[in-house]
Amino acid sequence: MKCPYCKAPMVEEAIAFIVQLEDGQELRLEDVPTWVCESCDHTEVEQDVIDAVEDMLEHMDTVTEENDDQDDSA
Ligand SMILES: [Zn+2]
Repeated sequence: MKCPYCKAPMVEEAIAFIVQLEDGQELRLEDVPTWVCESCDHTEVEQDVIDAVEDMLEHMDTVTEENDDQDDSA
């Protein structure tokens, strides 16, 4: 993929996104595959990823906070 602005190559990175929900809640998405321009830092998310996120949000009637995913590597 190339940057639509400066035509430089884009690299895929996993980035955290904050999504604002309709009811005012904020949802933090970790590791969203995102294309980042090496030259101008323009970011672009593929439509497939957007669709997946929207699909996930539609099925979020029962949201549970999971805090038991700790990494205690002592
Ligand atoms: Zn660019």
